[in-house]
Amino acid sequence: MAEITGSQHYLSGLYTPGTVMLQPAGFVRGMAAGLQRQNVTIYEDTPVTALRRAAPGWIVETPKATLTAGKVILTVNGHLQSFGFEQNRLMQLFLFAVMTKELSADELRLIGGQPRWGVTPSDPMGTTMRRIDTGQGGNRIIVRTCASLRPGMKASAADMRRAEAVMRRKFDQRFPQAAGMPMDHRWAGHLCLSLNGVAVMRELDQNLFSGCVQNGLGTARGTLTGIAAAELACGESSPITSYFAAEDRPKKLPPRPFQQIGANSILRFREWCAKDD
Ligand SMILES: Cc1cc2nc3c(=O)[nH]c(=O)nc-3n(C[C@H](O)[C@H](O)[C@H](O)COP(=O)(O)OP(=O)(O)OC[C@H]3O[C@@H](n4cnc5c(N)ncnc54)[C@H](O)[C@@H]3O)c2cc1C
Repeated sequence: MAEITGSQHYLSGLYTPGTVMLQPAGFVRGMAAGLQRQNVTIYEDTPVTALRRAAPGWIVETPKATLTAGKVILTVNGHLQSFGFEQNRLMQLFLFAVMTKELSADELRLIGGQPRWGVTPSDPMGTTMRRIDTGQGGNRIIVRTCASLRPGMKASAADMRRAEAVMRRKFDQRFPQAAGMPMDHRWAGHLCLSLNGVAVMRELDQNLFSGCVQNGLGTARGTLTGIAAAELACGESSPITSYFAAEDRPKKLPPRPFQQIGANSILRFREWCAKDD
């Protein structure tokens, strides 16, 4: 582990051969460029403010335009509940990450290890560490840990400050030789989970489909959920659609104050148990 990561912190790890590390922004942008070559138009910064039925299709309102669509697939993550679906059944969680500044040649020597690696903790409440190199946005280390349940779907500045302090400590714990390393970027991101770990992949209403609730596994499960929603909308079926069709509905959550206090207390406790993980 020390040879790979340059950190003496890790005692052992399980190596998964044949995996690749995916730069999510690069992946999404590459996918968008590919789709645009297929005659697909992507409108960014265009919130859908209302969705109305106009049988057999739908009317989609945005601040500057109104569109009609024969079929609509909602892939809006936890905002599915903002459209009136699965209310009080979706856990709105935020995860946090920080990224170091671009490391100089001297800092790279000080840290040691290989130029590209990823460590995923055995305990999901532990800390993910990644070392990326010039092919992926510069020589940097990324730290990801901490989770907060926010039913209002907004992480606060205080949430970010708390998480950043934890992540700086985790960085220093793993790389004492580079303690205090300045962080260039910090961010919180929205996850959506259900109590029973199911997705919401079904026809919500006539010609309105959902590919939501990835339960934190966006790359693998999220992709499958999207494939299944597209297949369902096209009237196709496959083992993927059958898998999601057999899932239960998300279980109901406890009332809001209990949900928020209870879940965040459990998250804090589990974070503490995984403090060195
Ligand atoms: C810090 C962090 C690290 C993570 N690491 C990993 C990892 O290593 N591996 C992994 O598999 N997963 C990881 N995840 C989880 C993964 O990012 C999510 O599961 C995934 O992004 C969910 O994808 P999604 O498309 O369902 O939702 P999102 O990526 O949230 O996309 C939903 C989109 O819908 C849009 N939207 C919502 N409402 C409207 C509206 N009214 N009008 C128009 N647009 C709307 C939003 O703007 C957003 O772009 C991580 C998450 C975070 C936050």
